[in-house]
Amino acid sequence: MSIPEKFGSMVFGDAEMRRRLSAEIYAEMKNCVELGMPLTPSAADVIASAMRDWAVEHGATHYTHWFQPMTGITAEKHDSFISPTGDGGVVMDFSGKQLIKGESDASSFPSGGLRATFEARGYTAWDPTSYAFIKDKVLCIPTAFCSYGGEALDKKTPLLRSMEAIDKQALRILRLFGSDVKKVTTTVGPEQEYFLIDRSLYEKREDLIFTGRTLFGAKPPKGQELDDHYYGSIKPRVQAFMDELNDELWSLGVLAKTEHNEAAPSQHELAPIYTTTNIATDHNQITMEVMKNIAKKHDLVCILHEKPFEGVNGSGKHNNWSLSTDTGVNLLEPGDTPQDNAQFLLILCAVIKAVDDYQDMLRVSVATPANDHRLGADEAPPAIVSMFLGDELESILDSIENGSAYDAKKEQMMRIGVDFLPKFPRDNTDRNRTSPFAFTGNKFEFRMVGSSQSIAGANVVINTAVAESFAQFADELEGADDFVAALNALIRSTIKEHKRILFNGNAYSSEWEQEAKRRGLSNFKTVPDAMPGYIAPKNIATFTRHGVFTEAEMHARYEIHLQDYSKVLTIEALTMTEMVKKKILPAISAFTADISRAASDKTAFLAVADTSYERKTVGELSALSGKIYALVGTLSADLDKVGKIADSYERARAFCDIVVPEMDELRRCVDSAEEVTSADYWPYPSYGDLLFGVN
Ligand code: ADP
Ligand code: MG
Repeated sequence: MSIPEKFGSMVFGDAEMRRRLSAEIYAEMKNCVELGMPLTPSAADVIASAMRDWAVEHGATHYTHWFQPMTGITAEKHDSFISPTGDGGVVMDFSGKQLIKGESDASSFPSGGLRATFEARGYTAWDPTSYAFIKDKVLCIPTAFCSYGGEALDKKTPLLRSMEAIDKQALRILRLFGSDVKKVTTTVGPEQEYFLIDRSLYEKREDLIFTGRTLFGAKPPKGQELDDHYYGSIKPRVQAFMDELNDELWSLGVLAKTEHNEAAPSQHELAPIYTTTNIATDHNQITMEVMKNIAKKHDLVCILHEKPFEGVNGSGKHNNWSLSTDTGVNLLEPGDTPQDNAQFLLILCAVIKAVDDYQDMLRVSVATPANDHRLGADEAPPAIVSMFLGDELESILDSIENGSAYDAKKEQMMRIGVDFLPKFPRDNTDRNRTSPFAFTGNKFEFRMVGSSQSIAGANVVINTAVAESFAQFADELEGADDFVAALNALIRSTIKEHKRILFNGNAYSSEWEQEAKRRGLSNFKTVPDAMPGYIAPKNIATFTRHGVFTEAEMHARYEIHLQDYSKVLTIEALTMTEMVKKKILPAISAFTADISRAASDKTAFLAVADTSYERKTVGELSALSGKIYALVGTLSADLDKVGKIADSYERARAFCDIVVPEMDELRRCVDSAEEVTSADYWPYPSYGDLLFGVN
């Protein structure tokens, strides 16, 4: 099969629908997808049977309402299509009702107190804006997941709501410029980073198996300092993985486009071509799942954790975000006409204001225990949210603010005629890799998202925050007597008020941390630091006003994330203590005993023999093993104590302040012991093996 033939062959997409549905039903479906019009039950029935026919022809035997609970991964429960005929036979059956709504036991998914235990039912509702697909003989129907009372228990529901909110408010802005656009959608292209390591080595490490990251591991002689992996040639085994991955993703309609080696050894990246945020989110979930499955077939393990290895880069997900109209215009593309540019500048200002006003929520959206290790660790953006616009654009904003003429290199500027708008650079390709929220020519790149996270959360926040800016701008401009004057004043005052969020320099530097503090920007280094943002009154007001979350849903999410933090740390701490007690201390002890014996043997044989190595090493290792043993005791005791704290916030806080530093200290001691213990005795594959083991 050629690639164009293969592409989307396992997706019940637009072409398939056009082929299988009558013109009327197809039009109804199209209106539903593109303009959000409801489907009639009879149309749903017709679509369901067409979908079933297609699925059965493609080998599917089961269907599932595929959803994205708050665990951040996807969930599915398979039902077969078979339905008894009454005469002992079966037919393959699937109705509109089954397509549209499913009921499932929600009691084992996190709800943060939204769902009383006596009402454990949850509902899945078809999301017709994302196409159904077949995976492992199962027809997967993308759905939203809600409680009996209609509260969102998933990541898709608020995402869809936020897309509606920004559509509504963006249209108000476009109307002001005389546009008759019908719909504004947000688009996203997430660049996915991941590690591939050898399966046999992975299986020897309980930390990787239970926690997705290494909890111990001495620094190898070589890390990423030579920069020889980034964009380096791809090893055959990895290439075979990538080829199969692309094949599978293409058949599932995922626009996998770019693949390359990343900065750290064994680290790679896959970028798709951007699409509607909702579909991009579903596709990213599929991509992560397929990556893991295909890796297995190549005796590899795909690690999506944000910080699997200390001392080398972690993995993130650059969330490229923009706004596009149903007429195919990218609203973050600087325009050709003065009018377009005025509109562009206003939209740009809306994003600047949004990022400044909701920096706390943006940080919340990427707050996971794993991402705490990555943000600010000299590779990823810091925990401080700031924006990079590039020198050209920033000096334009400066000149608008000061009312002065903007005079840069003339030939790069295009001519625009409105008084208050300066000439505008067409192409802004400056790059600043250290910025958390960077303008890259015609889109923004939010770089704080963790590699294993669903991109839904970050996009919910971006969409809602920008919707709020649009709403405020529209409120101000809609009633203005002199639109041009009001627009001018609004752009100027927005720049003045929010320029503190703009930073073009090196965001890794400690000077920036000081400067950001002076500017009053927030700097939440950990999950417990960031999470109260979820329930801050200003954020609740905004997210409820736009119908994205209810207050109860925000409280629930706050609870879920804090509980998750404590759970993850409990698992990590328990894994550490188990590794230490069962394998590491015994190994150190055996090695120490053996070299002590070797030293005695040597001196017995030859009194003047030099035993400096043995004596020094035995000394070092016995001191370290004593310390390690004591630390494990303290850690276990504190884990017990902290785990009993009833309040989720206080518990997470204590994990962060008490347990994490103890884990760090334990790791340092174990890593020092690894450095002086014979590799023959050390029970775990080393960092060198893990990071350079795939060839
Ligand atoms: P890089 O950031 O590595 O230089 P690109 O600029 O080519 O790479 O694109 C990175 C990602 O941004 C890709 O996934 C691409 O599809 C996506 N992208 C490009 N344009 C848009 C847009 N208008 N909206 C959302 N994502 C976009
Ligand atoms: Mg990029």
